Amino acid sequence: MKVANATFIKQCVTLRGHARFLKDPVSIIYTNCKLLLIYMFRLVCVNCGAEFLPDDIIYRCRKCEHLLTVKYDLENIEVNRAEWDRRPMRLWRYRELLPVSREPVTLHEGGTPLYHLKSIGKELGLKELYAKHEGLNPSGSFKDRGMTVGVSMALELGMKTVACASTGNTSASLAAYAAKAGIPAVVLLPAGKVALGKVAQALMHGAKVIAIRGNFDRALEMVYDICLSEGLYLLNSVNPYRLEGQKTIGFEVIDQLGCVPDRMVLPVGNAGNISAVYKGLCEFVELDFIDSLPMMTGIQAAGSRPVVDAIEQNLDMVVPQADPETVATAIRIGAPVNAEKVLTAIRATGGTADAVTDDEILAMQRDLARKEGIGVEPASAASVAGVKKLIESGVIDRDERIVCVVTGHLLKDPETVIKQCESPIEIDADIESLLSVLR
Ligand SMILES: *Cc1c(COP(=O)(O)O)cnc(C)c1O
Ligand SMILES: [Zn+2]
Repeated sequence: MKVANATFIKQCVTLRGHARFLKDPVSIIYTNCKLLLIYMFRLVCVNCGAEFLPDDIIYRCRKCEHLLTVKYDLENIEVNRAEWDRRPMRLWRYRELLPVSREPVTLHEGGTPLYHLKSIGKELGLKELYAKHEGLNPSGSFKDRGMTVGVSMALELGMKTVACASTGNTSASLAAYAAKAGIPAVVLLPAGKVALGKVAQALMHGAKVIAIRGNFDRALEMVYDICLSEGLYLLNSVNPYRLEGQKTIGFEVIDQLGCVPDRMVLPVGNAGNISAVYKGLCEFVELDFIDSLPMMTGIQAAGSRPVVDAIEQNLDMVVPQADPETVATAIRIGAPVNAEKVLTAIRATGGTADAVTDDEILAMQRDLARKEGIGVEPASAASVAGVKKLIESGVIDRDERIVCVVTGHLLKDPETVIKQCESPIEIDADIESLLSVLR
């Protein structure tokens, strides 16, 4: 059998920049006789298993159109946990398990706090209820984890312009990382349905912001077509590299908690984030860093619940919902792109999905703010509201150790906040008036 010459292979490995992670590149190549192994990972179809090279610019399988995932050659990647522990708690401490080989485009994302919700936990009878506050990422949501990897890959792949459709946070994050990278960003939003803070960010960071008279699902179809025809780089969660960044939420939870939680609860829109966390934790199992997985639990809004329906009715696929509606605009999505991945994540871990009403979401947004000091946007509160509901219905056991991911910051959606709160008390500028309102 003909194998490539060792020096040539070494050069290729170095060119791809992955040499530093390889234990012994040349012998690996020789024993496997496959040039493909120069790459430390491949794109693999989750349905038919077809494999594609990492620098193939595709978002779906060329054979069957299903989703792709990034598969690492874990046996040959040197991962040293003690070395990780010496690095700062940020996303790039896990760089051996990320696809980027160039200097990343980073704004110091990740390393978000894991709060023990003592007060809400006590009310619910839970000793160990935690919230990972992803609102404390640079642009105020977990989307930054996806974008630091996604925009870095865009540069690595030689793409000149990045694009996305967004319910808001994806556009804010993409705009910021494109600015950092010095490349243009195009974002499509559903007109009139994006929280004020998010539009403000996308505009201020200099993206080309286009509001379409249609919903998010339509915006995504449109941007998908335009990316394929015009050669823009698509950074919605159908892009498997973006999800690689987001899987680090799970890594950090393991490192911060020091053990595997019994359950992880996430709000679900396009279902990329919950699928990404599950995928990352499976890699930790494969590497023998952990020996069990948390029950992956997805929470949707009552007016936008296609994944919950699929789980409850035990369907093989998610049936899209035509007109999703909820105050939690970040999860106002009727046709979740990562449907097939989320069904696997939930079923393989014995998890579940449930929906909460807008009232339950807003009540929990206030509870998190007033009883825990944690300011989140409505979609984020859905995860904790979901725990409350599942405790009351007896699905969740009170001795479980539970981590909720709260996904975005309170200031993202100031209008929904103001509507729920009393106006400030306005008085004349004298001490007497002040004392009268204090009494
Ligand atoms: C994007 C987003 C979600 C939904 O995440 P998916 O990966 O689409 O399921 C939830 N909350 C916030 C704040 C978001 O920005
Ligand atoms: Zn396929």
